[in-house]
Amino acid sequence: MSLLLKDRIYTMQAPTAKRGVYPMHGYKLGLYRLPIKLEDPSEIKSIIEGMKKTFDMDQYADRIYATYNWIEENMPDPDADGYESVELSVTVEIVTGEVIDAIYQIYPVEKFAAPQWVKDYRRKADHFAKMIIDTILRNTILSDKLVEHFMKTDKLSEVQAAGKVSELTPLAQIVLDAKPIAKIEPPKPLVEGKKQVVTRDGEAAVPGPIDIEFKDKMDQSAAFKTKTGNEVQTWGRVGTDNKVMGVWGEFCAVDFDICIGDGACIDACPVAVYEFFDFPGNAGSTKKPLQINEPDCIFCLACEGVCPPQAIKIYPQ
Ligand code: SF4
Ligand code: SF4
Repeated sequence: MSLLLKDRIYTMQAPTAKRGVYPMHGYKLGLYRLPIKLEDPSEIKSIIEGMKKTFDMDQYADRIYATYNWIEENMPDPDADGYESVELSVTVEIVTGEVIDAIYQIYPVEKFAAPQWVKDYRRKADHFAKMIIDTILRNTILSDKLVEHFMKTDKLSEVQAAGKVSELTPLAQIVLDAKPIAKIEPPKPLVEGKKQVVTRDGEAAVPGPIDIEFKDKMDQSAAFKTKTGNEVQTWGRVGTDNKVMGVWGEFCAVDFDICIGDGACIDACPVAVYEFFDFPGNAGSTKKPLQINEPDCIFCLACEGVCPPQAIKIYPQ
């Protein structure tokens, strides 16, 4: 049983109504109320997209529907005499808004015209509904929102808050890539007067080595804030589709249009300056070594030495 049940769920017998849910023929209604806001259409869409390989996903107005189907069999061998099977399902409705309500009904099994031999339908439907909720909470952006919530309200560190989310969602299945890919902000030139030298059309990787005079030749573009709170300076970024990325990093400079994303610099760096970050759309590679810990660089030059296309230039401080 999900631990969320303990402190956040009301389990009610029908008939009841909550924010427009009318369980006309429902046997039982489960309701989770979560103190997190979900209103941005792109966030709602990301949950539907992220979960559509795991559950049947649907949307109507401000609601998301996630359905899990399972099959009951009266015997294990489908070729045996008298074999029968029936498909059952349970749907969780997520009502978005200032808070999130995750609601499910367990219908009488007769709704599925299920035969007499089907056992434990209600218990399984209840379990699968909680599994849907736990899986969505653990894998989508709702997980980040919950972590943020616990950091604020319970004064926990990010790691402790993430641990609490895991503890509260024990039935979660792990779904890879269910969070939206971070979008890069459009560049805003900061320095006027320099000619932006970008002879790159974004259709192919640019050959190395990095032009070590890039700061004189390119416009500085908008800095990128990393999850570690550092700002990575950039030069020569163009557009919003990542096809021309320019040079990133002030003293651990990497020309992201030359980089082929093999990760050699990440492996070589003794102080974990770099971490792979997704940049979809780039012709050279869709993962780049983002300098999340650039201030930690000890200028050992190891990364510069191992980079196959010579995309890196270190400027010792
Ligand atoms: S110079 Fe050394 S410490 Fe700095 S980023 Fe490269 S490998 Fe890491
Ligand atoms: S070693 Fe060079 S090509 Fe490989 S990921 Fe690092 S910067 Fe990119």
